[in-house]
Amino acid sequence: STMPPLLSAIANAGRHGVLAKSAVVMERLSQIDTVALDKTGTLTEGTPCVTDIRPRPGSGLDEHELLALAAAAEHPSEHPLARAVVQAARERGLTLAEAADFTSAPGAGVTATIGGRTIQVGSPSRLAPTISMNVTGVVQALEDEGRTAVLVLRDGAPVGALGIADRLRPDAKATVAALTELTGQPPVLLTGDNERAARHLAAEVGISEVRAGLLPQDKVTAVQAWEALGRRVLVVGDGVNDAPALAAAHTGIAMGKAGSDLALETADAVVVRDELATVPAIVALSRKARRLVA
Ligand code: ADP
Ligand code: MG
Repeated sequence: STMPPLLSAIANAGRHGVLAKSAVVMERLSQIDTVALDKTGTLTEGTPCVTDIRPRPGSGLDEHELLALAAAAEHPSEHPLARAVVQAARERGLTLAEAADFTSAPGAGVTATIGGRTIQVGSPSRLAPTISMNVTGVVQALEDEGRTAVLVLRDGAPVGALGIADRLRPDAKATVAALTELTGQPPVLLTGDNERAARHLAAEVGISEVRAGLLPQDKVTAVQAWEALGRRVLVVGDGVNDAPALAAAHTGIAMGKAGSDLALETADAVVVRDELATVPAIVALSRKARRLVA
């Protein structure tokens, strides 16, 4: 065609299911040598399910009451874990109480007022770094099974934990292999989730380097450290928690289907079709386009 090569690269990207926001994106993408993948919603399907409901003995709550309480607090959140909790409550036909004063802390969890009491749902290490041993035992047992453990606190005291399991995307392993081939080393996993669950998953797809328990700003710090060494990093993510890293990276790609608005706005390119394997395909394409331009 008569299209300039970079423009034609964009059109080509579109045919592959990637919305590149400018011609520069394809050029920058062709330069990347390091890939950092988010876990929840990126390497995994992002449609996790509640598998375990563990009220704390003495909390006065049964399984349904614990789940309903957590779901009421999570209701306004767009986080994949929040959706899993609300969905589990719906499936059991539970009625959710009205929640007020909702706030969310990316990479940590949510807080809301329910029936005059403060309910928090989220990461055990972030919400209750100094929780008692019997709660730690439940959390560790869940995490050892590869679950993401979510803690529920009422007025600051743990009242139970939920186990949530997320499935790998069907093309996760092939994507990791393709990215490894393209950059000469496996991608690194950056996640706000716990180390045990993250390593469990990483091992299944051939990732050896895992950075777990990260807050959004920690993901940025990791990216900046690589860039300071002269590496050019591609970050792939989906969540609000990934937005700062997507912005800091040499190139940021967001998973479009379940991606948060903030991630989609911040990324340089968006995977429109819900296929992770699009990422290595588009990197390969960008390199081809570059050779044509050069
Ligand atoms: P990832 O980096 O793997 O996409 P996130 O940074 O989104 O994960 O979340 C990290 C951790 O923070 C989760 O594993 C969970 O423990 C906690 N968390 C964040 N948001 C929520 C929420 N809405 N409900 C429950 N837990 C949450
Ligand atoms: Mg995510």
